[in-house]
Amino acid sequence: MYAAGPFGEYYCDSPVSLEQSQFDAISKFVPKRAFTISTGDIVEGAIWETTNDEIVSDIGDAYTRMRKTLGLVYPAIGNHDANPVNSFPPAGVPTNYTDTYDYSAHSAFWSPWIGPAAASQVVDNYGSYSVQHANSTLRIISINTMFSEGVNWWIYNQTLSADPSGIFTFLSNTLSAAEAANERVWIIGHIPPGRPDFLYDYSVTFDSLVQRFSHVIAAMFWGHTHRDQFEISYSDYSNRVPGNAQVVGYVAPSLTPTSGNPNFRVYEVDPVTFGIRDVHVYFANASRSDYQTHGPHWEKYYSAKEAYAGALDPSVTDRKAELSPAVWSRIVAAFQSNDTLFQQYYARKQRGWEYVPCEGSCKSGEICQLGSAVSAFACLDPTQAAAKRDLSSAAGQDATDECGVSTMRNVMRAMGGDVAALRKRAGVVLRR
Ligand SMILES: [Zn+2]
Repeated sequence: MYAAGPFGEYYCDSPVSLEQSQFDAISKFVPKRAFTISTGDIVEGAIWETTNDEIVSDIGDAYTRMRKTLGLVYPAIGNHDANPVNSFPPAGVPTNYTDTYDYSAHSAFWSPWIGPAAASQVVDNYGSYSVQHANSTLRIISINTMFSEGVNWWIYNQTLSADPSGIFTFLSNTLSAAEAANERVWIIGHIPPGRPDFLYDYSVTFDSLVQRFSHVIAAMFWGHTHRDQFEISYSDYSNRVPGNAQVVGYVAPSLTPTSGNPNFRVYEVDPVTFGIRDVHVYFANASRSDYQTHGPHWEKYYSAKEAYAGALDPSVTDRKAELSPAVWSRIVAAFQSNDTLFQQYYARKQRGWEYVPCEGSCKSGEICQLGSAVSAFACLDPTQAAAKRDLSSAAGQDATDECGVSTMRNVMRAMGGDVAALRKRAGVVLRR
């Protein structure tokens, strides 16, 4: 056992020094950015040792730091941003537990960015809000995805609601208004609907809204997995061809070095359609010998247009060309036929760390997941989100969510033992 270095270590949460270095790197490499998206999970991974005060303190520190360094940020709430982790009771659940303090704190810290009206929505609307980006036709819809999260135990308190906390009504009404106003929409949130811990029924409901408003939604942005991924919403999941590709969900890799090198993404955006022209990924290689002595060395890792769209036949290389859903569908097809290209993707998915070739069922499962923004159609075993998943199996590795569920799995296993064992298991992640 040894102490973590000052800029963080693999398997560990992010220290503030690493967090600040990322914010500084974003400012350095993208000085003309319009704004930044934060997809949540500010709070540390010691999930059973948090307090309400710590949640407020942690998010306050991070959002204040972002405001000073990054300027305009559109944020979303993550499953770690409550005490304890994943605790988001839907409306109507009879309990003395409340997240009111949490939504109020988020509202206060986000208000300078999203304004008082949207900040009020954060409190009244269980962490979700909608706001128009100034002087544009772009509307940001930020949703709290945790009412669809399989390990949010509160959702099982009563018969599962078809519309927990009115989240789908909010989304539908907001998209309808955006459609009527000829706006373009970016949906941002934490848990990608194509992941195993997004309950199947809710992912189907969510995707039905995405299909209905696919001409309005320019892109979606998620976090949570810590992996560099994407997922395509198709109008027909039994026929996943470019002509049926509707919307792309961009799943960003993470800052935390828990499972890879610290990352951030930069999106090149069409100023009229708000479609994505390219995705540039920057990273700090924590394996560098001078990482701890000189601090993170941030550099360009790759761009999706150079690495993937440029390899298509015909290629898509024009800087102004959009990486449309159809192009991403062609990229997935190229992964199928060009194993070298797929393995390059898989190494990048792991954020350039601990890559092992993904073959056989690992590869077919990965390709299926990239082609589904619905967990029900992502070729996942429903038990993969539960506690008894075999850590050593390739299928389990594919479906592993690095944000909470992997730790939750250990917790669930320990529940066969006593409380001391439970606490011991839950404490495996170091505090920040
Ligand atoms: Zn998460």
